[in-house]
Amino acid sequence: MLKFQEADRVKNLPPYLFARIEQLIAQKKEQGVDVISLGIGDPDIPTPKYIIDELKKEAENPANHQYPSSAGMLLYRQAVADFYSKRFGVNLDAKEEVVALIGSKEGIAHISFCYLNEGDVVLVPDPGYPVYAGGAILAGGKPYTIPLKSENGFLPKYEDIPSDVAKKAKMLFINYPNNPTGAVADVKFFEETVAFAKEYEILVCHDIAYSEIAFDGYKPPSFLEASGAKDVGIEFGSVSKPYNMTGWRIGWAVGHAEVIDAITRLKSNIDSGQFQAIQYAAMAGLKGSQDDVKENMRVYEERRRIVVESLREMGWDIEYPKATFYVWVPVPKSFTSASFAEYVIEKTGVVITPGNGYGENGEGYFRISLTVPTDRLKEALDRMKRELKDIKF
Ligand SMILES: *Cc1c(COP(=O)(O)O)cnc(C)c1O
Repeated sequence: MLKFQEADRVKNLPPYLFARIEQLIAQKKEQGVDVISLGIGDPDIPTPKYIIDELKKEAENPANHQYPSSAGMLLYRQAVADFYSKRFGVNLDAKEEVVALIGSKEGIAHISFCYLNEGDVVLVPDPGYPVYAGGAILAGGKPYTIPLKSENGFLPKYEDIPSDVAKKAKMLFINYPNNPTGAVADVKFFEETVAFAKEYEILVCHDIAYSEIAFDGYKPPSFLEASGAKDVGIEFGSVSKPYNMTGWRIGWAVGHAEVIDAITRLKSNIDSGQFQAIQYAAMAGLKGSQDDVKENMRVYEERRRIVVESLREMGWDIEYPKATFYVWVPVPKSFTSASFAEYVIEKTGVVITPGNGYGENGEGYFRISLTVPTDRLKEALDRMKRELKDIKF
């Protein structure tokens, strides 16, 4: 037998916190329980037909069968730039300030390889998307947690970061509209972020995956709308959430030209870009009428109402989230995130995500995702109303 030793960078990845829940799900299914998962943030509505048709058409074209470029087609990068101009009023040079990604997750993980040397500090929000810390650890960096607290609207307080930490930090990740909390940020917050980044010479990486998933006419701003943002940072975006294209794997990074160039050079050593037919399909979404996005939002709005109103009936005092397809909810007093998630699946067969899976400051919360067919979501909340009568707040 050969003895393989995992590299430290893989050994040091954070433990997978949903293992216990997955074990319970398997157990329940074995017992014949009709398990409903409200755990996964992945649109259940299909990709719009005009996007699929564009893929079919472009897949037939032999010009698309060869290696694409790592940076993405200029046509694709121009479509991203045009989208930014129309949606955010932000001007981008498609050649210098836009790079295509194989899903934004790819760039979020790889950016750390571009800017961290062994032991370098990177500021990561907690709770947060696990890829920020994961990518940093794989690149040899040291994540430093910045807590997102309900009393601060789940925004980081830069003045609370010790100055010796801020001085050492090379990068900062932020994400608004926010997964998992559903919190939103305004341009003023992004301007404070620019000021903090300038003071300490930190690269800002903003993740705007949920910019189009917003309710009641609210339009989340881009980080690049803040003045000076392009001098200190980049923004990661994606067609995954607005056009129900999570499986297609295409996104972008935009902003600071040197950073975009560094990502492109790194990528040229790792991948050869995304299939051009998929780039054309994503362009169809970006250039389209956005009517399908509005239709999705009508569906999420109905689901958001079902979740929030049901939880209110059960005794929770919670607000409607302004954006994202998540509802972030405090667990009742006598529970931890894990014990409550276990209790709910035990009693109802409904799976909720324990908040501590997104970092230690997620402890005391759970997340419900609205990407479940409406009748199933209703059934899940009805079961909870029926079976969880005894919980105390
Ligand atoms: C879904 C999601 C993404 C998007 O990932 P893709 O790789 O573009 O599919 C990025 N960031 C967050 C926080 C997400 O929830």
